[in-house]
Amino acid sequence: MSASHIEKHEFQAEIKQLLDIVIHSLYTDKEIFVRELISNASDALEKLRHLKLTEKEIFDDRLDLEVNITTDDKANTITIQDFGIGMTRDELVENLGTIAHSGSKQFLKAIKEGGEKNANLIGQFGVGFYSAFMVASEVKVYSHSWREDAPGCVWTSDGSGSYEIEDIEGQRRGTKIVITLKDDEKNYASDSTVKEIIKRYSSFVQFPINLNGEKVNTVDALWLRSKSEIKDEEYTEFYKFQANAFDEPRYRLHFSADAPLEINSLLFTPKDNPENFGLGRVEPAVALHCRKILIDPKPDKLLPEWLRFLKGVVDSADLPLNISRETMQDSALVQKLSRVITKRYLKFLGEEAKKRPEAYQEFFDVFGYFLKEGVATDFDYREDLSKLLYYESSVLEKGKTTTFADYVSRMKEEQKEIYYILGQNRESIESGPYLEGLKARGLEVLFLYESVDEFVMSNLREFDGKTLVSADQGDLKLDDAPKPDVEGSLDESQTKKLCSWLRDVIGERVQEVKASERLVDSPAIALSPDAYSAQMRRMMRAMNKEGGEAPFKVQFEINPRHQLMINLNEQREKNEDLAKLVALQTFDNAMVAAGLLDDPKDMVSRMYSILEQAATK
Ligand code: ADP
Ligand code: MG
Repeated sequence: MSASHIEKHEFQAEIKQLLDIVIHSLYTDKEIFVRELISNASDALEKLRHLKLTEKEIFDDRLDLEVNITTDDKANTITIQDFGIGMTRDELVENLGTIAHSGSKQFLKAIKEGGEKNANLIGQFGVGFYSAFMVASEVKVYSHSWREDAPGCVWTSDGSGSYEIEDIEGQRRGTKIVITLKDDEKNYASDSTVKEIIKRYSSFVQFPINLNGEKVNTVDALWLRSKSEIKDEEYTEFYKFQANAFDEPRYRLHFSADAPLEINSLLFTPKDNPENFGLGRVEPAVALHCRKILIDPKPDKLLPEWLRFLKGVVDSADLPLNISRETMQDSALVQKLSRVITKRYLKFLGEEAKKRPEAYQEFFDVFGYFLKEGVATDFDYREDLSKLLYYESSVLEKGKTTTFADYVSRMKEEQKEIYYILGQNRESIESGPYLEGLKARGLEVLFLYESVDEFVMSNLREFDGKTLVSADQGDLKLDDAPKPDVEGSLDESQTKKLCSWLRDVIGERVQEVKASERLVDSPAIALSPDAYSAQMRRMMRAMNKEGGEAPFKVQFEINPRHQLMINLNEQREKNEDLAKLVALQTFDNAMVAAGLLDDPKDMVSRMYSILEQAATK
């Protein structure tokens, strides 16, 4: 092998596809390639800063941590150089020739799902390094790893199917990317154009960026400045930079504390929840700094999981500068930090809910899911979070919501429990049989529409000392409501006989048949002997999961004051066959109302038999 051995490589198929889109797309904001390459340079410098804490032998150790950009309008080039960690030959192949990172993967996925028109998502997903090919006729990447023993290399490609790598002498540590511009992209070789782009996208980068020898960025940490000096636009610009975002933040919380820890923090709540767009779980993105120095851009132990939608920065002067990402995981200090920030954010949400209820409701519609996840999974914040939940209720008009606290303030003196019903939507709850008994007694019921609410209720269990009770629970204890005195109502012994007859007719699908305490307008109701499993079952079905389908017996309650039961009781003496059909149909109807009917096919043929007999009379 010669000293400078040249290797030719094909790009991985997915990269070819990506490059093809990037090169041929009509994406208009091509200038974002500057942002992407500066961001890579900044990442590489950041990594080097960390390595310096642990490694003794670093190649070219005296170099400053900075980014140097030069433009040459004669040669039509723009060059971006950093003194970061650099790449070895193998790393060049791995990092620039295969689709390893999530941004471009997600971009390709979006293209596959939405077609070429999604090409304007390039900016949103950050196709990273490959964005250079939007403007380049050729890209050369000179790199020398921080490791002493790895030779320098140059990687060359025109973005069509392949690239070459060659060893090269005299390379400094880090990476230098030389872009030869396409004829119609020459403006990126102009000092003034590039300066403007850097100011727009990269002014918050924490390392000096020099353009043709002159420092361009301001390198100030917004979160350390006093609130009164910062304009709204500056905050928004910072959010977009920090979160790589394109929306305006919905909320921002800029706060400082001196005790128990010294904290300066700037937290943004985005406008949208990306998990709603089917992009999977978002990664935590509140960066941890110590006196401006970035310790970890995505620490996953800094904030609780359910706050993963937050963006921004936490800076604490109390952290040891040399804290590593590993020791951070179980540092008591980080836990303390987490607690202070989480509490502060929840307090902020509580204040917002009071001050601007409509804006809060919008927030809750988008991010309420995360708060509910917190209630269900995080004991530490359960109580704080439960105060931030809003639900529709039987006493409010559609679209209006209430907190548990407001519900409690409306409770009757003798009422000890908070009632709720989980259902598809308001209409199905209101037309179902579970509400009427509570309504007849003047009791308020909360309406829950999301399956996560099931977990919220079963984990929360109570609020302000009041037990949370599901209205479709079999053993719901209700005080006697005034029962309408219907002529012909079945007496106790008639009811008993009818119940035992029904038991025999319905068979193994029923555990118990008895007279209902709660029914007013409906003839019958199906209840789960233990409320949890009925709801669980409904949820499993909603999630379309197999399994959990063990034979399921319900409690069937009938209303002895309802005309249907009165007639049925008579009919079973006169025409038992018809009475049986009616009994089974009533049971299935109740199962449908409960959302528990597995297989409706018997129901239809049975219905025809009943109609047939009804039509002959
Ligand atoms: P991302 O930055 O999201 O990982 P990119 O496409 O921008 O994706 O970069 C791909 C990879 O190439 C990076 O993860 C990094 O490992 C490597 N890389 C790119 N630019 C540099 C650089 N200037 N110095 C060192 N490594 C780099
Ligand atoms: Mg990148």
